[in-house]
Amino acid sequence: MTDVVQEILEEVHALCVADTSGGVADYIPELAAANPDRFGICLTTADGHVYQVGDTDVPFTIQSVSKPFTYALALTDRGESAVARKIDVEPSGEPFNEISLDPVTERPRNPMINAGAITSASLVRGATPDEQFERIRASFSRYAGRELAMNAAVHASESRTGHRNRAIGHMLRSFGIVEGDPDAMVDLYFRQCSLDVTCRDIGVMAATLANNGLNPCTDVRALEPVLVERVLSVMTTCGMYDGAGDWVNRVGLPAKSGVAGAVLAVLPGQLGISVFSPRLDAHGNSVRGVMACRELSSRLELHFLHVG
Ligand code: GLU
Repeated sequence: MTDVVQEILEEVHALCVADTSGGVADYIPELAAANPDRFGICLTTADGHVYQVGDTDVPFTIQSVSKPFTYALALTDRGESAVARKIDVEPSGEPFNEISLDPVTERPRNPMINAGAITSASLVRGATPDEQFERIRASFSRYAGRELAMNAAVHASESRTGHRNRAIGHMLRSFGIVEGDPDAMVDLYFRQCSLDVTCRDIGVMAATLANNGLNPCTDVRALEPVLVERVLSVMTTCGMYDGAGDWVNRVGLPAKSGVAGAVLAVLPGQLGISVFSPRLDAHGNSVRGVMACRELSSRLELHFLHVG
C-alpha cells in the first residue's frame, strides 16, 4: 500500500507540473514575488503517515486556508448557536471579498467569505486583539503539530493595502455583527492570514480534521469531535471560492484554498491532502492544486459520494 500511494503521488506530481497556466496573486508585492514553479503535494493519513513529493517544506502564508480553523475556534469559544446568530452557512456564489450581507438575515453568508472570516476572528476569546491572535496562533499550531509564526512583511503589506477588508469590517460593525473596533478585528484577520505554513503543515492540519480533531502526529487534540462535522460541512459547500460546485462534482472532498496557492482537502476518517503551487485560476484556486486533487480523487477513489 505504502509504495502504491507514494508512486501515485509522484505520477500526479509529474503530470501536473507540466501545467504552467494561471498567475500568482499580485495584490501585494510579497505574493507577487512568489516562485511560481514551486509545487508540493502531501497525502497525510488519519493515523499520521505523511507521503510527500516536491516542495513540501517551503514556507508560504496560510491566507484563506485559515478560515475554517478560526471558524472552528469561534465555535469552540462561543458555542454553535451564538456563532450561528452572527454567521450563516449558505454558499454565497459571490466573490470571497464581496462587501455585502445576506439581505434577509443581515449576516455574512458563510465563514469562508471575508465578511464571515472577519466575524469568526472577532468571536475568538481574548481580552485584547493580541490575546485573540495568540489564541488563533496557538490553535493553528496544535493542528500543524509545530509552533507557527506570523510573516511580518506579508502582514504589513496586507495592512497597507487592505481597504476593501476594512470596508467589510466597518459594514459588519454598523450591522452590529462585529463589536468593538472593526479595524482591530480586520487587523486580527490579516495577522491570521499571514501565518507561515508549509505544504506538510497544512497536510497535518487536514489529517487532524480527518482524524476527528486529534492531531495524529502529536496526539494533541485541536478540535472537539462534535465540531469537526460543522467545519467540514462549510468547507464542502463554500470552501473553494466560487468554484465550489465544480469542485464537489470533480473532487468531492471538503476543502479550502488560499491566494498563496495552497489547497487543503479532507476525507473524513481517512486522510488529508495538501497541495502548494502559487499559480491561480480565475476563481483564485491553485491551478495545479485543483488538478492534483482531481487526479488523486479519481485514482484513489476519494470522492465522498463514491460507491465502491
Ligand atoms: N488576505 C487575503 C484577503 O482577505 C486572503 C485572501 C485569500 O486567501 O482568499 O484579502
